[in-house]
Amino acid sequence: MLGGERDAVPEALNLIDDQRPEQRRAALALLDELEARSVFPGAHRLGVTGTPGAGKSTLIDALLRALRARGETLAVLAVDPSSRASGGALLGDRVRMRSAGEDPGIFVRSMAAREQLGGTASGAHASVLILACVFDRVIVETVGVGQSESDVRSLVDTLLLVVNPGSGDALQFMKAGLLEWPDVFAVNKSDLGAEAARTRSELESGLGVGDSGSGDWQRAVLQVSARDGSGLDALQQSVDGHREYLRSSETLATRRETGRVALVLGALRERFGSRGVEALGGTEGVASRLLDAGIGTFSLAAQLDAELDAALATRS
Ligand code: GDP
Repeated sequence: MLGGERDAVPEALNLIDDQRPEQRRAALALLDELEARSVFPGAHRLGVTGTPGAGKSTLIDALLRALRARGETLAVLAVDPSSRASGGALLGDRVRMRSAGEDPGIFVRSMAAREQLGGTASGAHASVLILACVFDRVIVETVGVGQSESDVRSLVDTLLLVVNPGSGDALQFMKAGLLEWPDVFAVNKSDLGAEAARTRSELESGLGVGDSGSGDWQRAVLQVSARDGSGLDALQQSVDGHREYLRSSETLATRRETGRVALVLGALRERFGSRGVEALGGTEGVASRLLDAGIGTFSLAAQLDAELDAALATRS
């Protein structure tokens, strides 16, 4: 995989899915090795989130085609947190049907939210790490209906929020305080008329003039149509502008580090709740263990998991 061999990817993704003890050990060793040896900054990790029906899949499909035409190789990881029970119709399957076809430069994988290497959090992080070794850009598609924005942000370098015009989406995001997470906003379906422009200005005033979100990045609200392609060039420029900003400001390293801490915390919370995290000294305790340890992120998550298990066993 470090040599960019696409054929190695499905096997690696299957390995991190495998719950048998020996395979789990092998998966941890693989992930630690990839983490230690993959080049920085490597692939751009782009998150695309938004409510169902906002047009994420259609937009990703259009972006895939445009970026592929520039010669990029691309992976799409569709993480569907709602499909726990059904394991059902996954986002990425729709993307796969349209764009990917037989092109070896595009890889699409769907992931239901189920137990993987201690839970969804680390499963998604592990998949992104694997895909980022081989493809130029990894797009993570998630359904955003609330809390998940902060989770997906920890997985990616750049978070794009796709907004449905006139649906009350903008208002809902503002009320829920979710506008702080995205780096780029795209109001989709501008082909439908004035509603999109109205939603755009609502969002712009919600963001506040000159509000730069994290650091000096000027967050843009763009109007696009995934259907007729208008605004897509500007969107692409904005996304790549954010990538350049992260690289030139050295914010990227910090952001990836925050992502690794979030991975460990997320995995522990899934199993032990916030009390488990407290027992390890809270967010700061976990962060310092990660920075001190000289150990891979995934191994640390497994180690802390075992520590908490042991502590619980002693108590009972
Ligand atoms: P997702 O659930 O966010 O992935 O949304 P989809 O990509 O499946 O799109 C939901 C619906 O909106 C579909 O019927 C799309 O054809 C439609 N749609 C997506 N983008 C546009 C657009 O730019 N303009 C119009 N008019 N319809 C769109």
